[in-house]
Amino acid sequence: MQRTTIGPSNRIVVVGGGLSGLTAALYLRGAGREVTVLEAAETPGGRVATETVGINRFDTGATILTMPELVHAPMSAVGINADEAARRLDLIDVDPTYHMRYADGTTLNLHRDIDDLAAAIADTFGNDASDGYRNLTDWLARLYDAEFDRFINRNFDSAISIARDRKTRTAAAQLVRLGALGKLSSTVGRHITDERLLRAFTFQALYAGVPPERARAVYAVIAHMDISMGVYYPRGGMGRVAEEMVAALTGAGGRCELGTAADRVEWDGNRVQAIGTSDGRRWPCDAVVFTTDTPVTRRLLGDKPTGRSRKIVYSPSAVVAHGVVPRSVTAGWPGGHHTLDFGAAWSQTFRELTARGGRGRLMSDPSLLINRPGLSDPDHSITAAGESVTVLAPCPNLDSAPLPWRELSRPYVHEVLAVLEARGYHGIRDTFEIAKVDDPGTWAAKGMAAGTPFSAAHTVRQTGPLRTPNLVPGTDNVVLAGSSTVPGVGIPPVLVSGRLAAARITGD
Ligand SMILES: Cc1cc2nc3c(=O)[nH]c(=O)nc-3n(C[C@H](O)[C@H](O)[C@H](O)COP(=O)(O)OP(=O)(O)OC[C@H]3O[C@@H](n4cnc5c(N)ncnc54)[C@H](O)[C@@H]3O)c2cc1C
Repeated sequence: MQRTTIGPSNRIVVVGGGLSGLTAALYLRGAGREVTVLEAAETPGGRVATETVGINRFDTGATILTMPELVHAPMSAVGINADEAARRLDLIDVDPTYHMRYADGTTLNLHRDIDDLAAAIADTFGNDASDGYRNLTDWLARLYDAEFDRFINRNFDSAISIARDRKTRTAAAQLVRLGALGKLSSTVGRHITDERLLRAFTFQALYAGVPPERARAVYAVIAHMDISMGVYYPRGGMGRVAEEMVAALTGAGGRCELGTAADRVEWDGNRVQAIGTSDGRRWPCDAVVFTTDTPVTRRLLGDKPTGRSRKIVYSPSAVVAHGVVPRSVTAGWPGGHHTLDFGAAWSQTFRELTARGGRGRLMSDPSLLINRPGLSDPDHSITAAGESVTVLAPCPNLDSAPLPWRELSRPYVHEVLAVLEARGYHGIRDTFEIAKVDDPGTWAAKGMAAGTPFSAAHTVRQTGPLRTPNLVPGTDNVVLAGSSTVPGVGIPPVLVSGRLAAARITGD
């Protein structure tokens, strides 16, 4: 039996209407609780949003949706079956999931289907590489099976509780046998040796905030979720995920109050008895779920500790430029919906992005993600003004490199556009009409620690039972969800975190 909040739990306030908060709210409503989501912004979704600037729409947060069944499940909790949830989300299959472009001119399309990808790898890298990929993909599937339900998709009360559970011990032994505690690069490198191909299955370590040669092999599951389990795109934009979740919640009698920022917590001893919002209203509750980033949660909780007191190491950040480019220009570009355009440098890039103590640097030879949703969903991302194009350049967070982003942001975007121009995106430098740029300064202004939207890095000391826990010590009725807590960062983990937070209130 997992630990839960103490005392009554009929009225729940969820602070934050991102995907973690909406998931928690749906499960809680499905379990018969009165649920109110308080969301500071005028639209739900948080870091999974679609914004209109001018006449074009842009995905301003996440662009890669994996494991949509984790969105269907909380909708099912309020009576919307998986088929109906899938119909409402109207997901487009994105295949290839990624287009890889390497500095030497090689390209590779990462297909979801194992035979298609094996054939593409054989064409580009030869039959040995293709066989190595088949072995790798089998290993990845076994890693995922041993890891997901036993270590990611469940609440842990302590490291001791893990050791006591027989099935978990068996899964842990299986992970050790699979080499999950080895280093990511060298473990994946047992199956594939070509350095370019290795990148396709290890670049995801950046999502975990750790260089592939230092990250544990256990993080290879992200590649499995991304490549083998497929990438989807909701017709109309990523923001539709939250819209459909809100519709499901309100349709089932829950509430979602937009434009309503929590700004104070009323305590009765160790219990939160109400949340106050900046419009002067008061929201009485029996329990509260905070999905805000650590600095905001800490401010709201005052002197209550939010789990770990040691200094948190944060993931790298990103500069994200959204712009409109004429179709006559984009028509000649390489790549697809999601293109990873690698520089020749690799280990050095990770060193630059993750160096600690002010020693971080901008990438000297950038690897960039280019998103063109119009290639999957032209009706919503191509207008008379042109095609919506988003360029994401990873960069150090503000702890790693406290750069003057207010002055640096636009010149850096122009530098990145010049790099892309030289790599074959002809016309981008002169025609990319900037609609919006987010950088570490803008993420910090939204309350995100160290100016990164990717929260605490998945270092060994910040993973699993060592990550900030979702029950807040010293409180009776406060639960955390979202990327700052367990299990981690990204859409699938925060959807899981919402379910785990709800289970901390409702019990098994
Ligand atoms: C540019 C970018 C690209 C990304 N790419 C991907 C990707 O491709 N695939 C992927 O899986 N993940 C990606 N991610 C990560 C993923 O989007 C996040 O990990 C996840 O969406 C975080 O969800 P959350 O619920 O924890 O937080 P949020 O989505 O941030 O939700 C928290 C909510 O709380 C609200 N809030 C804050 N303060 C208050 C307050 N005082 N009162 C009330 N509400 C408040 C915020 O407005 C926000 O809506 C990306 C993120 C970014 C920013």
